[in-house]
Amino acid sequence: MTTAPDIAPDAAPAALEIHDVHKSYGAHRVLDGIDLTVRPGEVTVVLGPSGSGKSTLLRVVNHLEKPESGHVSIGGELIGVRRHGDGLKELSERAILAQRSRIGFVFQNFNLFPHLTVLDNVAAAPVATGKLTRQEARQLAKELLERVGLGERVGAYPRRLSGGQQQRVAIARALALRPGIILFDEPTSALDPELVGEVLAVIKDLASGGTTLVIVTHEIGFAREVADRIVFIDGGKIVEQGPPAEVLDRPRHERTRDFLRKVL
Ligand code: ADP
Ligand code: MG
Repeated sequence: MTTAPDIAPDAAPAALEIHDVHKSYGAHRVLDGIDLTVRPGEVTVVLGPSGSGKSTLLRVVNHLEKPESGHVSIGGELIGVRRHGDGLKELSERAILAQRSRIGFVFQNFNLFPHLTVLDNVAAAPVATGKLTRQEARQLAKELLERVGLGERVGAYPRRLSGGQQQRVAIARALALRPGIILFDEPTSALDPELVGEVLAVIKDLASGGTTLVIVTHEIGFAREVADRIVFIDGGKIVEQGPPAEVLDRPRHERTRDFLRKVL
């Protein structure tokens, strides 16, 4: 667990601020007025039943989905404004790409580039975005792969790696753009049980190093260890949130209790 940053709430912009976000697919309201503020260095774990809107929420933050209303800001910079009549314009494609490069995203299914080596998977984005030269990016990629325990596998192709190793490459890749925040969408749920621990260990290492993380997971023991705050979502709404000791041990809402009974 990280310690809360020792600053006044207004001293630095929130790492992530989500305000009154709504999102529907047809008549199905998937996000129904989400408000969430994540401070720099904070580790937030999002829990909730399947279909409750967790992935959609992360996808809105990363510009992979547009909310109908509400707004999201990253590091104090507004993104994804959709409310008509408030005078705020939609961002250009270029601005969206620039903002997306400040957000790391780790998916359930790794999504590595199959035709690139491990090293090039990690080095690709800093080069493509013009942040680093090819040589600098490869040096950084080596360091990051060492950090996730894969320094020996830099030349391998993803298909030669286990799921746990592939997910650790995906984490190194997310780190390569030096993002202000990293979003994880069920990073271990596609893994064989014996491979879950190595991926959670890497995420724990990031958490204790002060990286701002938002993690969707069903690993309750991990959530308890790593989270500064747990957010429980059901039906597209935040039902309750607080420190792990409150939400996991003394949930106030029946829906939270019901969920925890099923997953624990
Ligand atoms: P979770 O990640 O909590 O399981 P999701 O955010 O993936 O939930 O999905 C929430 C709801 O939105 C589900 O009912 C899902 O079927 C629906 N949904 C998600 N994406 C789409 C889409 N692209 N089109 C239509 N419905 C979708
Ligand atoms: Mg999901």
